Amino acid sequence: MKKPIAAANWKMNGRSDEVIAFAKALSEITTNGEKIFAPPAAYLTTAQAYNSGFALAAQTACENADGAFTGEISMPMLKDIACQYVIIGHSERRAIYGENDKVIFAKIQAAFTNGLTPILCIGETDKENQSGETEAVLTRQLKLASEGLSGEQKQKIVIAYEPVWAIGTGRTPSIDDIQAIHQKIRYLFSQNDDTISASVRILYGGSVKPDNAKAIFALADVDGGLVGGASLTIDSFEKIIKAL
Ligand code: PEP
Repeated sequence: MKKPIAAANWKMNGRSDEVIAFAKALSEITTNGEKIFAPPAAYLTTAQAYNSGFALAAQTACENADGAFTGEISMPMLKDIACQYVIIGHSERRAIYGENDKVIFAKIQAAFTNGLTPILCIGETDKENQSGETEAVLTRQLKLASEGLSGEQKQKIVIAYEPVWAIGTGRTPSIDDIQAIHQKIRYLFSQNDDTISASVRILYGGSVKPDNAKAIFALADVDGGLVGGASLTIDSFEKIIKAL
């Protein structure tokens, strides 16, 4: 049985005392789902030191294993500190740091090579949404992964559908639209393979809050959430975990 996920993406926020308090409190929260914490890279080992019950995720990592890549962190390094997940292709990485689908796919492959589970973020911008391009954008963003990964990898990868216009804005698609898009993503990604379709976890991300989490997570094709702002305090993130 696939477990639903509540993943906290802290982005570039927090200091060590906050990371420690959050990691301790998160460890204590009981759920039948899976709790994931993605602190800033500087605090991955801090969070890990106080981890007794969640999975650790990096917010990005390099596609190369070692070498002259100043400032980067590699997948083998993440493996070395017992990180289990790595977020790949977040819209901020795409928009601010120019990551394209090719680089993102190289990162997915590097994650799998090193025993990490990628959380692949996809999603359309406001403009693309307004001009009716959502499906074409998602199809393009999924193409390399859906064609290039093995069946086993496709069962394992986590996909996060994050409409860019919903991130940090307080706006979300309607409940019906979230379900319809997730259903479409599951179909596009699994290419009629029932095992992949039943196994791949597809998270929703974009202004998930304690008051909308339950309705979103109850949708047939939503397997949990990737949460930014509402994960910064343990009280609101706990409510979201409890909505799984
Ligand atoms: C995110 O950045 O992945 C995200 C979902 O942010 P927020 O929950 O703040 O919209």
